[in-house]
Amino acid sequence: MPVLADKVAIITGAGAGIGEAIARAFSAEGARVVVSDIDVARAQKVADTLPGAIAVGADVRDEDQVRALIERAVAECGRLDVVVPNAGIATTVPLTEMSFDQWRDVMSVNLDGVFLTIRHSLPALLAAGGGSIVTISSITATAGSALIASYAAAKAAVRNLTETVSAELRTHGIRANALLPGFIDTELVTSHQADFEAALGLEPGGFDTVITGKQTRYGRVEEVAAAAVFFASDQSAWCNGSSLILDGGFRGALL
Ligand code: NAD
Repeated sequence: MPVLADKVAIITGAGAGIGEAIARAFSAEGARVVVSDIDVARAQKVADTLPGAIAVGADVRDEDQVRALIERAVAECGRLDVVVPNAGIATTVPLTEMSFDQWRDVMSVNLDGVFLTIRHSLPALLAAGGGSIVTISSITATAGSALIASYAAAKAAVRNLTETVSAELRTHGIRANALLPGFIDTELVTSHQADFEAALGLEPGGFDTVITGKQTRYGRVEEVAAAAVFFASDQSAWCNGSSLILDGGFRGALL
C-alpha cells in the first residue's frame, strides 16, 4: 500500500529542484499533489506529468495569494493533509555589502513565506483532523555561514518555527518536522557558485572542490524527497518537532 494513499499535499516552490522531486515522490506514494510555484508555467509542467495533480501559481510572499492557494487546494481536492513550505531563494553577499533590501528579499520568501503557508494551512489541517507539515530548513540553520547571512538566519528561524508548530498543535494531531539538507544539486546552488568563488578567492570550479571534499558529492533531490515522504507519512507518527540532517556527513567532517 502506498504510504501517502488518499492524502492531499501542497508543495510550494514545486516547479523545480527539491520541491519538484517531493511532488513526484509524494505522487508515486499515492498522494494527490498541489504543485505550487511563483512560476505557474513551471508548476503546470510538473503537474501535467502526475496523476490527479493540479498546478496553482502563488508567490509565497503574498498573503492573499497564499490564502487563495490553500482555498483552491481544498475546493478542488476536498481536504488537506500534508504541507511542504519549500519555496526558497538565496543571496550570496558579504555582510559588509549586504543591503537591507537583499536581507529582506531572502527573509520574505524563506521565512515570511513559510509562516504564511503554515498559518493559512492550519484551518484546513485542523478540519481534516490533523496532518503533517514538512519544512525545508538547511544545515546552515546549525551554524553561522559566511556570505549567506540572511539565508542562514531564515533557515535557523524556520527550524525554530517548526518546533513551535509541533508544540502548539501537537494535541490537534498536527505534526511538524524539519529537513536540514546540505548542498543539493539544484539551480539554487549552481546559480551561486560563481559568487562564492569570487568572494572566497577560489578558482572557477573551486566551490565544487570544497563541497565535494566535505560531502563527498552533491546530494540528490530524490534523497531529500525520500525523507520528506517519511515525515509526511504515518511511518513517522512519533516524530514531532524533529530535525533530520541530510548532508553526507558535511557537519561531522573536521578533516
Ligand atoms: P530551486 O531554485 O531549484 O527551486 C526553487 C523553486 O522555488 C523554483 O521553482 C522557484 O520558482 C520557486 N520560488 C522562488 N521564489 C518563490 C516565491 N516567492 N513563491 C513561490 N515559489 C517561489 O531551489 P531548491 O534548491 O530546490 O530549494 C528548495 C528549498 O530547499 C529552498 O527552501 C532551499 O532553501 C532549500 N534548501 C536547498 C538546498 C540546496 O542545496 N539546494 C539545501 C538546503 C535547503
